[in-house]
Amino acid sequence: MSTTPPTLPLYDLHSHSTASDGTLSPTELVQRAQAQGVDVLALTDHDTTDGIPEARRAAAAAGLRLVAGVEVSVTWNGATVHIVGLGVDVDNAALQAGLAELRRFRAWRGEEMARRLDKAGIPGALAGAQAFSQGEILSRTHFARFLVAEGHAKNMQKVFGKFLTQNRPGHVPGQWAALEDAVAWIRAAGGQAVIAHPARYRLSATRLRALIEAFKACGGEALEVVSGSHSAGDVQGMAQYARRYGLLASQGSDYHGPEQSWLELGRLPPLPADCIPVWVDWTATSASRAQKAEAGAEIDT
Ligand code: AMP
Ligand code: MN
Ligand code: MN
Ligand code: MN
Repeated sequence: MSTTPPTLPLYDLHSHSTASDGTLSPTELVQRAQAQGVDVLALTDHDTTDGIPEARRAAAAAGLRLVAGVEVSVTWNGATVHIVGLGVDVDNAALQAGLAELRRFRAWRGEEMARRLDKAGIPGALAGAQAFSQGEILSRTHFARFLVAEGHAKNMQKVFGKFLTQNRPGHVPGQWAALEDAVAWIRAAGGQAVIAHPARYRLSATRLRALIEAFKACGGEALEVVSGSHSAGDVQGMAQYARRYGLLASQGSDYHGPEQSWLELGRLPPLPADCIPVWVDWTATSASRAQKAEAGAEIDT
């Protein structure tokens, strides 16, 4: 006789839909997550929660738990950093006012990107990018898809380095939200703030420590230790930071769609054993969760 061992719920707490720069609709995303064995999925679109109502309906039909999330664009000490909010009340006015401001900046930046690309000999980029965007935000990803489709770059990996990053023709420097504002909006909406893919910023150890300290000081609760964009070494390194600073640990694929064939919903390495998962206390209040994280700190910082 063989018995199937009980499996832990599978959490994927970072994903994108067509409401931002993903290619699956919220319904398709939720259905794919369910097919991949995900039990708890957070939809965390860039600077919008527009996909949440549809995702909720799909999750109820598919029998998985949907966590209302968002990924807020932040500028911290000149670096672009992403702060994920988990378990947010999408009707919160402070959160929605902050996100609306970011979307206004995105819209302006999109026009400016198109002007610069036009000067570089690529006309029609605004309409071109908009044709790839189904939601209310315009992302560099939409410009990237347009540029690849028009043959200006070979693929999505190459196009960013060629056109869309610093000192490239389509790059527009700019100011996203302040770190403390992003964390405050998420907390006002009853959510937990998480530093997304912390290893991806390639910050020096000194700068990363400063970011984590500033994040903690304004009420940030967790670090995304496991991410689709983290190497095994990154996971171990970020787990150490989480422990040292008494932060909870999150995990998410950062899935954007099946075109990213190397990445799949729910297909994540486990959190290192001595991390306290961000979901440790998801039935309790945000305040008691924060206290628990504090109690788990190795050193008081
Ligand atoms: P934005 O927030 O509009 O500046 O766009 C950032 C998005 O572009 C990220 O969320 C990624 O989805 C995507 N992205 C950034 N850099 C790259 C890259 N090198 N390759 C592929 N996608 C990228
Ligand atoms: Mn993205
Ligand atoms: Mn991100
Ligand atoms: Mn993301």
